[in-house]
Amino acid sequence: MAEPPPSPDDSDFPARIAPGCRDPGELDAQVARCRACPRLVAWREEVARTKRAAFQDWEYWGRPVPGFGPPDAALAVVGLAPAAHGGNRTGRMFTGDASGDILFAALHAVGLASRPDSTHRGDGLKLRGVRVTAPVHCAPPQNKPTPAERDSCRPWLASELELLSPTLRAVVVLGAFGWQAVLPVLSDAGWQLPRPRPVFAHGAQVTLPGREERPELHLLGCYHPSQRNTFTGRLTLPMLIDVLRHAAEISGLDQ
Ligand code: SF4
Repeated sequence: MAEPPPSPDDSDFPARIAPGCRDPGELDAQVARCRACPRLVAWREEVARTKRAAFQDWEYWGRPVPGFGPPDAALAVVGLAPAAHGGNRTGRMFTGDASGDILFAALHAVGLASRPDSTHRGDGLKLRGVRVTAPVHCAPPQNKPTPAERDSCRPWLASELELLSPTLRAVVVLGAFGWQAVLPVLSDAGWQLPRPRPVFAHGAQVTLPGREERPELHLLGCYHPSQRNTFTGRLTLPMLIDVLRHAAEISGLDQ
């Protein structure tokens, strides 16, 4: 008798489904079904029910937020996880919160976004050659996923980077959490990491050698555009523009 298809509630749903996805569109659709992390499912749905006062008229997305951008991107931007009233409300990465305001302003400044803001899924925003994603696809309480939740979600990012690999030239990682999450994904996907493993820093750059038909991959570190970092001046818009402009150049997206 054939094995029943895995339920989205199973903890191994990502590990069983993600490797079989044939393109980023199929992957995105499967990500949005996932219910593998009970704590995050409860939280994302609770937030979607209760809402923030300013968004009472919104029908919150309340599900995992898939990556956003073309399926043949040369550049990936990897954050942390959707915000409770940002991506978890709008259903699009970095959309509808202060972190997204600065990220999309910077992407627009370097010619990778069709507009400088990102407010909702129907706003017409288009990205050129860049895909924005995260190692954790559900909004976590206090923006802090557990290591177990990060590991459960890893197959989605692994598959996404694998599917992008024919065109992918650079990955900008926003913050230390994303950096720690991305390194094992790249290693599992066959990219050779230096030893000792590179440490996260704003401005860090590591080039991973290519193999066979896969070209080398540039890994760049950048402070996360969280309100804490932007309010304190740790990360400014010009700093973010500098990193993204450099990433666009080494990805061949500067023409
Ligand atoms: S965080 Fe990832 S693995 Fe966990 S429920 Fe959300 S999409 Fe699934």
